[in-house]
Amino acid sequence: MRLANISGRLSLITPAGGVVDVAQETDGRFSPHIQDCYDRWDELREAAPALEGLPGKPLADVGLPEFGNPAPSPRQVFAIGLNYADHAAEASLAVPEDLTVFTKFPTALAGPYGTVVLPPGTVDWEVELVAVVGRGGRNIAADQAWSHVAGVSVGQDLSERTLQSAGPAPQYSLAKSFPGFGPVGPLLATPDEFEDPDKIELGCAINGEQVQKGNTSDMVFPLPEIIARLSSITPLLPGDVIFTGTPPGVGVGRSPRRFLAPGDELVTYMAGVGEMRHRMQAGG
Ligand code: ZN
Repeated sequence: MRLANISGRLSLITPAGGVVDVAQETDGRFSPHIQDCYDRWDELREAAPALEGLPGKPLADVGLPEFGNPAPSPRQVFAIGLNYADHAAEASLAVPEDLTVFTKFPTALAGPYGTVVLPPGTVDWEVELVAVVGRGGRNIAADQAWSHVAGVSVGQDLSERTLQSAGPAPQYSLAKSFPGFGPVGPLLATPDEFEDPDKIELGCAINGEQVQKGNTSDMVFPLPEIIARLSSITPLLPGDVIFTGTPPGVGVGRSPRRFLAPGDELVTYMAGVGEMRHRMQAGG
């Protein structure tokens, strides 16, 4: 099943490429707000086959600005640092033996198309697989973890490196939470949409030049392991969002270093969920 947040409404994308308004087609059984569907995830999965048979309106007719974030208001956002060995190496940091976890504050979340206002400093890109929790829980075993995932999408963990490294301890959460620093979308795809959900290609390009290309099979802690370790400490709730770490190719790891500049277009993609496009804008 593939979902999208189109014009602020929960939409199902049919296999034939139609857009079905779930609230309308179920006579209000489901809320039009996509975030609400994660609280009733099993019910939505049961309703999906009938909805997938409807014609819907053509996906091609949906304007890009109409797409929003498929999980726009989670209760918790988790983000994993240094989760690809080659990225840890380019950051001159050791591959962690346990999860490196921070948050992106929910006001940083944004949709898959639009502008990003650059704060002063050094803003870097990080393409990441983003998972949304369907069924929550505590102490979820790794071999059960995929059944707790509603779906996956692609996101950017935009990061202001100067603030991130200022002070005696890293300021990951703050430096990665400027408005617009957590875009996700355009589609959310359930794990069964992938031949192997632990092996998905993702990447990003600036002004047409590919800067990151990776595969989620290279994660130090694959998503099931992330879910097992997080949920051993804190309960996961339906609709929670997990940024799973970035493959190599970020700007701070380059020589010379490179950061996003006003006018740059950042295109971010993951197989199965499509691409996001963001234009960088000078800010104050
Ligand atoms: Zn990251």
